Amino acid sequence: MAERMPTIFFGHGNPMLTVSQNAYTKGWSEAGNTFARPKAVLAVSAHWWGKGLAVTSSPLPATIHDFYGFPEELFGITYPAPGSLELASRVRELLSPERVAFDENRGLDHGTWTVLRHVFASADVPVVQLSIDGSRSSQFHYEAGRRLAPLRKEGVLIVGSGNIVHNLSLYSWEARDLFGFDWAQRFDKRVRELLSARGDAQLIDYENLGKDARLSIPTPEHYLPLLYVLGAGDKGERPSFPVEGMDGGAMSMLAVRFG
Ligand code: ZN
Repeated sequence: MAERMPTIFFGHGNPMLTVSQNAYTKGWSEAGNTFARPKAVLAVSAHWWGKGLAVTSSPLPATIHDFYGFPEELFGITYPAPGSLELASRVRELLSPERVAFDENRGLDHGTWTVLRHVFASADVPVVQLSIDGSRSSQFHYEAGRRLAPLRKEGVLIVGSGNIVHNLSLYSWEARDLFGFDWAQRFDKRVRELLSARGDAQLIDYENLGKDARLSIPTPEHYLPLLYVLGAGDKGERPSFPVEGMDGGAMSMLAVRFG
């Protein structure tokens, strides 16, 4: 019998963190030491966004360098974790009757490997990524998380990777410390409070959380992975926040864990 896994949302920040050692990356690697080795990871990343549902099905998914303007060093990084057709098939089964395509050509994007290189540095835990279908409602993403929840007791770590506050047009490379703009700090706090009170309905309906939400979530892809983790958290579970902080004024590094 596999040990029941937590489910964790990571604020992945910028890809430089994969080669950094700081409070965020320390929090990520420490998180990886607080539960038994999972059988596999199912990752939902902001950076696989499209139409329709798909899972990676390659036995050795490639490392995708899906960013520009970063040092050459980052483009040489690989995260050679194996895939798992068994997990891909199980995801398809759990989300049925939704159609989930197997994508053998798709690799792991930096939303996934920036963080996993710290959580499972030896890249020996199999990883499958599930795409975010951008044509679906936020309720759908939450429900998908609920349907995937049984994976936790099958020894699978469900990971969401995005950022609760993610506004690149207001991001400031000069404000790289824990400073955050007022609206960003307020929204980060609001989301924490709603998570702790299990205000799931309000978190799903984030578009009606006011101006701070609109500034924090100008586009949905970095927020929606949180709803998978929220959905996969049992109703009675309360979250912990293993990593917190604000990067560049406009990016929350908050990590959210259930279980
Ligand atoms: Zn990102």
